[in-house]
Amino acid sequence: MQDCIFCKIVNGEIPSEKIYEDDMVLSFKDIEPAAPAHVLIIPKKHISSLNAVTEEDSKIIAHVFIIAKKIAKELGIDKDGYRVVSNCGENGGQSVPHVHFHLLGGRLLKWPPG
Ligand code: 5GP
Ligand code: ZN
Repeated sequence: MQDCIFCKIVNGEIPSEKIYEDDMVLSFKDIEPAAPAHVLIIPKKHISSLNAVTEEDSKIIAHVFIIAKKIAKELGIDKDGYRVVSNCGENGGQSVPHVHFHLLGGRLLKWPPG
């Protein structure tokens, strides 16, 4: 998708601090970390938000969580715990219209979020 910053990160037009990549997903450090460990996991396919996910995308979305678990272990936050979250739409606080999953850890995370 033209003009999508995360598609530009996928195709290398915008640099990122890459954490993990395979044929379905890309993970990179969030530019404004909200926790000591804060990475984003995104499908390489442009999907605008959770609202746009279809049955066809099931494999990709399930894969995101398998990769989240793997990255959490690699970052050493698996034992203390972590959070995976996707903000959707205005009330959800979504600022980039390419579906993404925040993996946050390294400190005690408040619940419920503000
Ligand atoms: P959202 O607010 O949509 O849930 O999350 C978007 C996230 O993307 C934010 O945490 C923001 O810091 C991050 N972000 C926005 N632009 C860039 C960028 O160009 N590079 C990286 N690495 N992260 C970005
Ligand atoms: Zn995109």
